[in-house]
Amino acid sequence: MTIAALADWLPLKGQPLLISGPCGAETPDQVLETARLLQTHTSISLFRAGIWKPRTRPNAFEGVGEIGLHWLKEVQALGLKTTTEVANAQHTELALKHGVDVLWIGARTTVNPFSVQEIADVLKGVDIPVMIKNPIHADLQLWLGAIERVANSGITKLAAIHRGFHVYGKTKYRNKPFWQLPIELRTILPHLPIICDPSHITGKRELILPVAQKALDLGMDGLMIESHLDPSVALSDAQQQLTPFDLSTLLKQLVIRSGSVANPFLMDKLMTLRNNIDEIDEEVLNLLKRRVQVIEEMGVYKKEHGIQIFQLERWQEILRTRSQLAEKLGLSRQHVEKLCQLLHEESIKIQNEVMNRKLEERA
Ligand code: PEP
Ligand code: MN
Repeated sequence: MTIAALADWLPLKGQPLLISGPCGAETPDQVLETARLLQTHTSISLFRAGIWKPRTRPNAFEGVGEIGLHWLKEVQALGLKTTTEVANAQHTELALKHGVDVLWIGARTTVNPFSVQEIADVLKGVDIPVMIKNPIHADLQLWLGAIERVANSGITKLAAIHRGFHVYGKTKYRNKPFWQLPIELRTILPHLPIICDPSHITGKRELILPVAQKALDLGMDGLMIESHLDPSVALSDAQQQLTPFDLSTLLKQLVIRSGSVANPFLMDKLMTLRNNIDEIDEEVLNLLKRRVQVIEEMGVYKKEHGIQIFQLERWQEILRTRSQLAEKLGLSRQHVEKLCQLLHEESIKIQNEVMNRKLEERA
């Protein structure tokens, strides 16, 4: 996949790279005034505004439609690049016709390969940057698939937007971040820029700062944060929008840490710590090898004496004692329980293999 550098299509006006603007374009004044204030108070690289709003329930504000694209033209006249969400072929054609600078595909669209393909087909032969939000649920393949569909149309100016994932029930965040997904995406496509959208992750402006900080600490390439002239009267996502001024205050609180370590003294210390981790990991793996050997012996023993592999009481005892030890050692109980679960799954698998091996030998 050919992926252009972010700097090829988005001017880096400040640190971190910032995409901002209202959830939805509501009136010409709201759009223009928000853009002006963002220009005054922040170093915004790209102005966002939803023109077509995918809403969970009908009768909510569904966006102003095509007329909003004229308002984005006025924002361009201020010297800002613009972006809007496209969810089907018609949106895409209209956004192209009105010269929107960058397109984004929303979470509700990424889940649907038909819609993504329909958009990708319109984009064949067009040179425009496209940002692809993660799908509503935590499915990396679906996210990758959408990126591939757009890339297959010849689009090289690509970025992913991490906006969190829906989970059932009441949770702290509107959409759980599951940071391991963008990290995995980075591992698979190291050159793909990833922008974090803490507005849609948190759903609440009070929680945006720590999530934005974490995104930067994980090496994400920029932030998309919703802003509104007056969030209290916003027609969509009122609770998560910030005034441009409050956004500038938030941005000043972010700590920008460098991705690589240029200072040789810092590098020295880091090398020592990394060496320690390497050694510890080696010890852990050697212990794991010993554990596997004992499990194999146990499998043989159980088979010879007609004992079932899974013993509920033993498993409960393992969980209980390891959790207690975790607590005593000041380790995260949750982390250790997860680890036990993994070890136990592997243990069952190995013992099963031992039993079957014996069966085959007898046959
Ligand atoms: C949005 O950016 O306003 C939006 C609708 O986002 P998402 O697709 O992440 O829900
Ligand atoms: Mn929104």
